[in-house]
Amino acid sequence: MKVGFIGLGNMGGPMAANLAREGHEVTGFDLAAPMPEGVRKAASAAETAQGADVVITMLPNGAILRAVAAEVIPAMAPGAVLCDCSTVDVESARAVAEQAAAAGLGALDAPVSGGVGGATNGTLTFMVGGSAEAFDKVKPLFDIMGQKAVHCGDAGAGQAAKICNNMILGVTMIATCEAFALADKLGLDRQKMFDVVSTSSGYSWTMNAYCPAPGVGPASPADNDYKPGFAAELMLKDLRLSQQAAEAADADTPMGQLAAALYTQFVETEDGRGMDFSAMLPRFEKRHRS
Ligand code: NAD
Repeated sequence: MKVGFIGLGNMGGPMAANLAREGHEVTGFDLAAPMPEGVRKAASAAETAQGADVVITMLPNGAILRAVAAEVIPAMAPGAVLCDCSTVDVESARAVAEQAAAAGLGALDAPVSGGVGGATNGTLTFMVGGSAEAFDKVKPLFDIMGQKAVHCGDAGAGQAAKICNNMILGVTMIATCEAFALADKLGLDRQKMFDVVSTSSGYSWTMNAYCPAPGVGPASPADNDYKPGFAAELMLKDLRLSQQAAEAADADTPMGQLAAALYTQFVETEDGRGMDFSAMLPRFEKRHRS
């Protein structure tokens, strides 16, 4: 396929390289990042769209996505698909899909889980909103860039799945970290705590697969001085998107709200920026009951 790829940063770069390696004709554009191997450099976002079967975007936020989509949509051939893999607000995803449909194009919101490692190794999970027809067209590309693509529903459903998943992730990470910090103060050995909880009803992905306590459980960022991994500020971005969506949809999400407040404090006024999101554990360790 002819693929346009806009946004070649930490995630988009390796994703585009994987498509090129599998023989797709990839043309890329980024304001700053270098072209990955095998990707032809375009002079503008619109140029990547000319003659492309699929245009993929992997951008920082919804405002940038809207601006890029406004430039790219008029340059796309009828029947082509605009596939946004960024994590953005549900409203921006739906607005871009409407503009694409009005221009006779397919559109997908297809945010990912799996991080830079998943992007590099082609093992991302895609959560996809949009028509079945557009999904089927892009599926061969998802199969190269990832290990799984779930068609979640209409426009916005992919972003909805992503922020609901990451709201659970943020809340359970905080719960796991505060429980370890309590266990410390109660004199309970961390390994024993892991042995019990990981096989009891308190188990979760954050405990079992990404344990925030160094030296306990499988290797995780905690074992590497809390270098990300998944940075606290990216978790904060996703928690804020979840609360923006909850506000718009009139949903009561008290735990998500509290998790967003705690990660805001951690990132903006403590030393959380640049740390993995599991560094909530050393944060709790230092604190006392207020
Ligand atoms: P990044 O900052 O490394 O990459 C974004 C790229 O977009 C940059 O290279 C930037 O120069 C480029 N860009 C910005 N504005 C542009 C424009 N107008 N035209 C062309 N290029 C432009 O970010 P990333 O880590 O690759 O994340 C991309 C998206 O993926 C974000 O929405 C993020 O939330 C999501 N995501 C990231 C991770 C992760 O672990 N990094 C995991 C899942 C999802």
